[in-house]
Amino acid sequence: MIILLDMDGVLADFEQGFVRGWTARFPEHPPLDPRDRRHFSIRDDYPTHQGAMVQAVYHAEGFFRDLAPMPGALDAARALADLGHDVRICTSPLRHYRHCVPEKYEWIDAHLGPEFVNRMIVTRDKTLVRGDVLVDDNPDITGAQVPAWRHVVFDQPYNQQVAGPRMTWATWRDVIADAAPR
Ligand SMILES: [Mg+2]
Repeated sequence: MIILLDMDGVLADFEQGFVRGWTARFPEHPPLDPRDRRHFSIRDDYPTHQGAMVQAVYHAEGFFRDLAPMPGALDAARALADLGHDVRICTSPLRHYRHCVPEKYEWIDAHLGPEFVNRMIVTRDKTLVRGDVLVDDNPDITGAQVPAWRHVVFDQPYNQQVAGPRMTWATWRDVIADAAPR
């Protein structure tokens, strides 16, 4: 199968990185506990008047480069490739792309190596990408096409409202095995 893996919230620990960046930048304002996140966009989980502060954290140079891998993610990505799947990294950059885009490439190179850099698809519209499975924490992925892939939701506190297949890096083997092409 062609398996598309999202980065933020799937391979890379955006939530932990955000809390770290926020705490360093705004020590007088306690960050939201990631377990209390309810909206996919983190800006929507903070008060409107803190919107610029939220953006300042993830627009900062080094934010994406320094994200920690999600536990188990790197081993699982390599294991999927070893099982014979065609694994691609499918990620949507911020509109504020200056640091985000190069740092996403640096991150994959550092953590998964040049073979996976060669497998990166950077797009704002994932519905235009062909594949059998997309593993993504975004509960609502829309775009110009009806997707060819089956969406497997990567379990996060802010996507509990959607039904359908759902996985973590502890359960991926069974879920992806069941997520055969339609
Ligand atoms: Mg994501």
